[in-house]
Amino acid sequence: MKCSRCKATACVALPSHHAGFCKDCFPLFFTRQVETAIRREKMFTHDERILVALSGGKDSLALMLELTLQGYDVTGLHIDLGIPDSSQKARAKVEGFCEANSLNLEVFEMEGWGLPIPDVKRFATRPVCSVCGRLKRYHFNRIAVEGGYDALATGHNLDDEVARLFANTLRWDAPYLSDQGPVLPGSDGFVRKVKPLFRLSEFETANYAFLKGIEIHADPCPYASGASFTEHKKLWGDLEHRSPGQKFQFYQGFLKRGRQAFALLEKETGDPLNPCTECGSPTNAGICSVCRIKAAVQEKKRQAEAG
Ligand code: SF4
Ligand code: ZN
Repeated sequence: MKCSRCKATACVALPSHHAGFCKDCFPLFFTRQVETAIRREKMFTHDERILVALSGGKDSLALMLELTLQGYDVTGLHIDLGIPDSSQKARAKVEGFCEANSLNLEVFEMEGWGLPIPDVKRFATRPVCSVCGRLKRYHFNRIAVEGGYDALATGHNLDDEVARLFANTLRWDAPYLSDQGPVLPGSDGFVRKVKPLFRLSEFETANYAFLKGIEIHADPCPYASGASFTEHKKLWGDLEHRSPGQKFQFYQGFLKRGRQAFALLEKETGDPLNPCTECGSPTNAGICSVCRIKAAVQEKKRQAEAG
């Protein structure tokens, strides 16, 4: 196969785009896709400050590098979850990457905040991943708001978005369907959230990270349960193989025709938000769910330690 751009030998085949690219032209394709996403969805401008959530995986590091190369004002944010062995390795990759590329980085430690994820796994009543995900989103937002950032960017790719949309659709989960998309506008207490890689598949992001020589943290989290998202991704992988472009069409179709209907529904039924009386984050209860989870886990830990 020849490169669609320069006719050299292609190293990446992209059936959904009826194209293939060589190692020099593929990053240009990647750049164009990110540029298109930012421009069409009005994600942010070169005058704004962007906080980029960095897990250490291929998507977040590829996003950070690409936004830097495009001249955006970016700062990385890594949350150290405090999981023995795993978290040190992830953090080392993020710190090494930011140092090698002279990038600004903030690190937030869950242990220092009083709730390392191993405590959540041991003492929370809900599944660890559901609480961990909530805690990460809470701190990403809080740090972005407190730091006066204009937007929080995450490395979610097309496969992540389609798997999540599919799971939400299977449950007809109206609140989640109402605000899924590549841009979630900011509002009182919430920073704008953007996903500049939403046009790119996991395969494409992995290729970009590889061709750019990014050293990634590839080990799975020891607490990962092989949740339904992984199964949904496999299912969509089969569909895409049989009918290239299907994933993007499903997602775009939802953005054009589905999301608005759920947004209207939620507008009518959603509860008003007020600042949490403990931490000030927006919530529709007096004390937010994160403060309640933190207090409950710490209390159970105290009881366990007391005997
Ligand atoms: Fe947190 Fe690990 Fe679960 Fe991911 S897999 S949500 S990092 S506990
Ligand atoms: Zn709170």
